[in-house]
Amino acid sequence: MISIDKAVDRTVNSLLSLVIPVYQEGNHIKSSIGIIENVLIENNIVYEFIIVDDGSLDNTWSELRSLANGNDRIMIIRLSRNFGKESALCAGLKYANGDMVLVMDGDLQHPPELIPKMVDAWLNEGYDVVEGIKHSRGKENRIYRACAKFFYYLIYKSSDINLGRASDFKLLDRKVVEAWKELPERATFFRGMSAWLGFERKEIGFDVAHRVNGKTKWSLVRLIRLAINAITSYTSVPLHCITLFGIIMFLGAVVLGVQTLFMKLSGRASDGFTTVILLLLIIGSAIMTSLGIIGIYLTKIYKEVKARPRYLISDFIRGGDDKC
Ligand code: UDP
Ligand code: MG
Repeated sequence: MISIDKAVDRTVNSLLSLVIPVYQEGNHIKSSIGIIENVLIENNIVYEFIIVDDGSLDNTWSELRSLANGNDRIMIIRLSRNFGKESALCAGLKYANGDMVLVMDGDLQHPPELIPKMVDAWLNEGYDVVEGIKHSRGKENRIYRACAKFFYYLIYKSSDINLGRASDFKLLDRKVVEAWKELPERATFFRGMSAWLGFERKEIGFDVAHRVNGKTKWSLVRLIRLAINAITSYTSVPLHCITLFGIIMFLGAVVLGVQTLFMKLSGRASDGFTTVILLLLIIGSAIMTSLGIIGIYLTKIYKEVKARPRYLISDFIRGGDDKC
């Protein structure tokens, strides 16, 4: 219902907000933003930048300040610590004023040359969501690629939403942003949640460019955390798997029970010590794993119930202000 209230007129003068989360990108952020800005200027796009510094420890913030100095099209937000890209995106989306909002990375892995095409799809073809779809995933190691594939497969199988080639490079209409802001959960997964929203969508393929500088912030542990968060936010299938597993074990137990009783009554019962140990080990580990899965969901509920803010802002500068 909120979405319809927020419908905007689409004209060549519509404002595009670019939401860019950055973390430890100090050594190239100025030039990267410059490159993006040039594309926008060349294509006569009316724009504003909302750049969110996700608690960087390097010179990112001072670079952003000097970028915003005298440029009233740049708004910079500093989070009080590193909350993670997902939270930084939430902060950016909250402050974006545009009729359309483009979410992109700050390391030029999302090609700025595609922006005019995306805006055109919104303006002239009437799409509400224009998403960048990865043709190729760029330079990645094989284990990482295999894990990513498995992760997307799990999500696809359990929720029917195919995120395999999806990226965070997306242009959203104002009404989609408003609908997204209505989603109440604390732990967000932008890619998945925006797919869940629906709306008229168009996909535009792109090749993931090499990182301009620095290296990816996603360590294996962070990726696993993101994957668990994404899967458990999306689906309760793992919980049903426990039930299914329990039923299978029960059926096995009935068969084995009957066989054991039969052997006992017919006086042919053997020592069976190995079987007992094996059964204990299997059942023990199955119970532990199941408890673990339930525990993950419990933690999620606990965090959601606590309802802490998704991020805290420690500094906020609208470009052109005296404060810069
Ligand atoms: N990022 C962030 N907070 C983090 C990690 C990353 O805001 O805790 C930003 C980062 O600066 C970049 C974008 O999210 O603009 C994508 O991060 P990265 O390039 O490390 O990820 P990859 O491209 O390898 O998936
Ligand atoms: Mg990157």
